[in-house]
Amino acid sequence: MLLSELTTMRVGGPAKSVVTATSRDELTDAALAVWETGDEWLVLGGGSNVIVGDDGFGGTVIRVATKGIERLDGDGVLLRVEAGESWDGLVEYTVGQGWSGIEALSGIPGSVGAAPIQNIGAYGQELSDVLVAVDFLDNISGQQERILAADLGLGYRMSNIKAGRQGVVLAVELRLEESAEGVITYSQLATALGVESAPVADIRAGVLGLRSSKGMVLDPADPDSVSCGSFFTNPIVGENFARSLPPETPQWLVDDTDVKLSAAWLIEKAGITKGFSLPGSRVAISSKHTLAITNRGGGTAEEVGELARYIRAMVLSRFGVSLQPEPVAVGVEL
Ligand SMILES: Cc1cc2nc3c(=O)[nH]c(=O)nc-3n(C[C@H](O)[C@H](O)[C@H](O)COP(=O)(O)OP(=O)(O)OC[C@H]3O[C@@H](n4cnc5c(N)ncnc54)[C@H](O)[C@@H]3O)c2cc1C
Repeated sequence: MLLSELTTMRVGGPAKSVVTATSRDELTDAALAVWETGDEWLVLGGGSNVIVGDDGFGGTVIRVATKGIERLDGDGVLLRVEAGESWDGLVEYTVGQGWSGIEALSGIPGSVGAAPIQNIGAYGQELSDVLVAVDFLDNISGQQERILAADLGLGYRMSNIKAGRQGVVLAVELRLEESAEGVITYSQLATALGVESAPVADIRAGVLGLRSSKGMVLDPADPDSVSCGSFFTNPIVGENFARSLPPETPQWLVDDTDVKLSAAWLIEKAGITKGFSLPGSRVAISSKHTLAITNRGGGTAEEVGELARYIRAMVLSRFGVSLQPEPVAVGVEL
């Protein structure tokens, strides 16, 4: 099977083998069986944050398709959700129940099990705000363990799993609030809705509207959504370095010493605008969002890599800032 059929960027050659696990036992058995062989392996949920090279993947792809949402005893609304559930399906369900905590994370593609990998975030909320723990099958011990959120190294688009801890997230535990009113902390969303708190259903609708205007929801009718979402993270740099940038550079203090910059602004000011593509390439910047690289049809992983590397080189030479790709690269240089 081609990885281009399993990933939202629609690039990637064949996998040596693919197993799809629909229950926790199947998922555990599949992972343990591959680990036993010593073969390469790749866990895949919705494929919305992975770019696989054109030569494909010479190991086993383990597709996570496990289902189940369970309410546990505990304060607030404590949920255990199996890894293969759709993230946005979960948000829709919790909003429908009148629970708050993840409504601003509406419309993010992919699976629940992948959500902790880069600590998904958008419109003022992050998974780490509500994550209690994950059930994790550890590659080294072969054992299933419950890891508390505090021990996952969660940060801006980062976890210690993304940084290299090997294993499979089997399920996540979240704590939401039994309240149908949500607080809006993101100014663009507050402006769009004209309020600072609102029913969670309205926040979800507002977020979905904003996201689709930027091509940031998967929509078969929108060529700008054939992507991995934002391709680069917003760089975090030291305050002294930030002072050396042009005074108009947007920046936000993240702590006493570090400053976050806007990757989209840096790319635009480096001369790369919406819709940009390299000559002859079938891969282009989204026509709606400077931060998204899109496959306009028949593009290759190498074309994605070429554009990503070009953007990084332009921003580095103009500002001295090294942009970091957000998606996970497998067999391709980004
Ligand atoms: C249009 C669009 C908009 C997006 N908007 C956002 C956004 O606003 N905010 C945001 O944070 N992200 C966003 N993303 C990125 C992406 O949707 C998220 O990172 C999502 O969590 C990926 O889920 P997935 O199931 O598709 O993961 P995959 O792409 O299948 O996998 C991503 C990584 O996680 C690993 N992985 C997946 N499942 C497991 C598991 N169960 N156990 C262990 N490892 C696992 C994979 O091996 C891989 O390394 C967007 C993507 C698109 C296409």
